[in-house]
Formats: sequence, C-alpha cells, structure tokens
Amino acid sequence: MSISIIGRSIAVSATLLLNEKAAILRAKGEPIIHLGGGEPQSKTPIDAITSFTGLLNSGEIRYTPVDGTVEMKQAIIRYTQEYYDRKVKPENVIASSGAKQAIMVALQTILDPQDEVIFPAPYWVSYPEMVKLCGAVPVPVHPEDGSFHPRMQDIMENVTSYTKAIILNSPNNPTGVVYTEEFIKEMVEFCEKEGLYLIMDDIYSRLLFDGKKPVNCYKYAKNLDESSKLIVVNGISKQYGMTGFRIGWAVASKKLISVMSNIQGHQTAGPAVLLQKAAIGAITGIQTGVESLRLTLENNRNVMIARLKAFDGLKFTKPDGTFYVYVDFSAYDKDSARLSKFLLDKVRVLTMPGVEFGKDGYLRLSYCGGIKGITQGLERIKWALDPNSPNELYIGERKLTRDWL
Ligand code: PMP
Repeated sequence: MSISIIGRSIAVSATLLLNEKAAILRAKGEPIIHLGGGEPQSKTPIDAITSFTGLLNSGEIRYTPVDGTVEMKQAIIRYTQEYYDRKVKPENVIASSGAKQAIMVALQTILDPQDEVIFPAPYWVSYPEMVKLCGAVPVPVHPEDGSFHPRMQDIMENVTSYTKAIILNSPNNPTGVVYTEEFIKEMVEFCEKEGLYLIMDDIYSRLLFDGKKPVNCYKYAKNLDESSKLIVVNGISKQYGMTGFRIGWAVASKKLISVMSNIQGHQTAGPAVLLQKAAIGAITGIQTGVESLRLTLENNRNVMIARLKAFDGLKFTKPDGTFYVYVDFSAYDKDSARLSKFLLDKVRVLTMPGVEFGKDGYLRLSYCGGIKGITQGLERIKWALDPNSPNELYIGERKLTRDWL
C-alpha cells in the first residue's frame, strides 16, 4: 500500500500508546495511577453547562460561520481585552476545534514546504508533527546551558534563511517553566525585526503559581497593524478543565485570520455550535473556578515536589505553572520510553516518556489528579526503583514482590 511521504513521516505517539494501554488495563480492573494526564479534573463550569443545555433544548443545532459564531468571537474579543489589555475586531479572531486546530491552521497558513519552524525544547509533542504535516521542518532548540529556559542566543544560532516562524509556549508543557518577561520581550522584538511569525501558545497562561503573572506579548509589539506576524493562541481546555469540548482560538491580523478561516472551512468547518455555546458560557461566566483550579494545582505541585525531593537521584526544576513537572530519571534509566513502560507494567503507574518532548532520560509527571494519586503514585515509583525500599509492596489486597533489583 502506498502511504504519502508526509503520512509516513508522522511519528507514532508513545504517549497515546501508553494512554491506550493504561485505559485497557484500568477497564480490566487494574489499579492504575495516572501521572501522565494532560487534563485538569475540575468539573465543567456551571455557566458552560447552562449555556450548552439552553441551546440543546432549543433543538436548533446548525452549522456556524467557519471562524466561529458572532457571540463566540465577542467572547474571545472580551477575553483578549481582559487578559491582554488589547482591543481586537471580529476579523482578528478565529474559533477552532481546540487550540490544537488553531495552531495547525496557523501553520498551514504561513508555511511552505522546506520552511523551518523553531521552538525551544522540551516542547509539546505535537509541534514537530504539526510542522511536518505542512511539509516544513521542525527545529527544536535545546538551551545550551542544559536548562529548560532558552536564551536569545540559543534561538538566534538556529535561525537560517529558511526560518519562517517561532513557537513559544509559556508556561511550558512539559516543564512548567515560565519564560521571563525579558526573554518574551526580546523574542517579540527579534521576530518583528527579522520578519518572522511568532506563535504564542498561551494555553496555560492562567495556571501560574506563587503569584507569578503571565507575560503579555502585545506589550512589546511595536507593529500591531495589519502586517503584524504575531499569532496568539488560547483555549478553554486547561483553564476551565474543558478538554472534551474542543474549543480554542487564535488572535492575529485580518489577513492571517481570513486565510486560516478558509483552510479551516475545508477541514472541519466551524467548531460545533453547542461547544462554542459552552465555551462562551465559561469565558463570560463566573471565573472563580479558574482560581480554585489554579490553587488546587499549586497545592498538588507542592505535594509532588516535596515527595520528589525525598527521592534520591532525581533532578528537576520547580514548575511555576501548568500541571506538569519534568523529572530527570536518568540515574535510574536513560531510556525514558523503557522506564515509562516498566513503571506501568510493574507498578501500574502511568508516566510520560521525556523522549516524546525532546529530551530522553526524563519523565513528565502530571499533578492534575488528586493528592492521593500523586502520593501513592510516587510511593510506587520509589518502591520500584529504589534498592533501599522494602522488598514487598501492597496495592490494595495485592502483594507485589520485587525481583528486579
Ligand atoms: N498547546 C499545548 C502546549 C498543549 O499542551 C495543548 C494540550 N495538551 C494544546 C496546545 C492543545 O489544547 P486543546 O485541547 O485546546 O487542543
């Protein structure tokens, strides 16, 4: 069977395979602890539910304009005003089926085959594959100092005549690192000067800890007219715990948005109207849920960090946002896919192999679940890896005996 070059170039996601395996094991009654998740456990905001059910009950569920309903665009405009202090017009916004689609259509709008797209490593697993789907070339940049915070120099050294765009994601998935205001400022100025597109993936920007504030990229943009190459992406998945609703959006120049809409119109058309309604409810409704989610995550982070510190041989950077921590487990196994599989097989704890995010030897651990899962999950991992722990461990009634150390 002939498969396209692009189709063949897209990596099988070990993350998805592990997720599937864990789901099958769980369905069989296995006591899985999920430290791999990318979604908060908070309930859908009530305003989203009432908005959604109001429309559902009307029985009038139709197509919408491809770039979102008028009301959805108004909600995005209001969001941009409130969180970025920036007034934009309906022609500057597009609602998509998830931030993922917003990024994808943005890339399809700006990239030609062979173009290069730079993003700092570690990175969200989908960036390289999305770039490849456009026939373009992903250029992950590993900070030379071994940290998770890129420096201007790291980025600049990777810019070539083929570079078309840079993607920044802060707070960052998988590290939880928040890029400094100075760095974002420099990046905005640099991209303007070099004529590069800058995609700001701000999907975690309201999930910050210890009083940290999100950096507003618009503050440093000198050019905010129609020739601006700045594309800002957000969504409801993380901040409102509404991953299943699949609504995200982008804010950009009128020209970019019109081409993005055109592309989206031939892919999926407008996002499902009920889901847009729910998103409008969440964005324009009471916001206390976001703060309570943020507080829960901050507390979960503290618990996870305290437990990790008590674990010999691990290295990590304390996350300032998101719900992930990226931990160096190379003292135990340098092959993160093997280690992750081992932990799922032996102690039924799901973790994400760091290699998927661009750095092997690391595991991405999520703290978006409950405290019990975090403490028991880390206890099981410690038991599996630490030769000084007792030889046996009970998971409920089940006795595990360690025969591998
Ligand atoms: N960007 C990043 C960095 C993410 O982690 C995710 C979700 N894992 C997305 C974008 C996509 O979010 P959505 O659910 O809105 O498609």
